[in-house]
Amino acid sequence: MAGYAPQANVRLLYPRVMLTDVDAHLKIINTALISHMKPDQSNSEKLTYENQHMNGKTRLICPHCNTINQLPNARLGDNPTCAQCKNPLMQGSPTAVNSESLSRHIQHTTVPVLVDFWAPWCGPCKSFAPIYVNFARKAEPNLRLLKIDTEANQVAAGKFTIRSIPTLVLFNEGKEVARISGALSEVQLGQWVEQQLNG
Ligand SMILES: [Zn+2]
Repeated sequence: MAGYAPQANVRLLYPRVMLTDVDAHLKIINTALISHMKPDQSNSEKLTYENQHMNGKTRLICPHCNTINQLPNARLGDNPTCAQCKNPLMQGSPTAVNSESLSRHIQHTTVPVLVDFWAPWCGPCKSFAPIYVNFARKAEPNLRLLKIDTEANQVAAGKFTIRSIPTLVLFNEGKEVARISGALSEVQLGQWVEQQLNG
């Protein structure tokens, strides 16, 4: 049947994936989206990632006072608090940032950083918000989840060339790894992030 031809093509491109598996379908869809939307590396390259030899240490920006905190990796899952303001370094929820603090997080954080570029007038952004909150609860502290209002922070929207919202951009070691636009389900979001970080 002619209708099966596209699947045959996908099978050739992704020979290890069983197409009867719904999750695999989602992965293929996501992979197709990613390959279609190559990140603009020129923006990330403007940020200089300060990666000294961390020697088993993690560096995080405090969501409350923006102080750079450094702690042993082993303490990451131990609800670490800020050396400066004593508030939790990870909140289990997305941290709202502005253009300036966004760059600071990307530049100094040693765990991968996921950013939701959204705007108050955007319907899909609003429906995605609780999904993102739920995901943060599960993904932190292994991932730092940020959200930025592109209307209030047009500098950041321009700097990262955000053309549609919601757009999720994943950074690792100061560099953009991947981006995807449109609201995702929590399952899709988890699979997408895992795929980008683990190849
Ligand atoms: Zn603090």
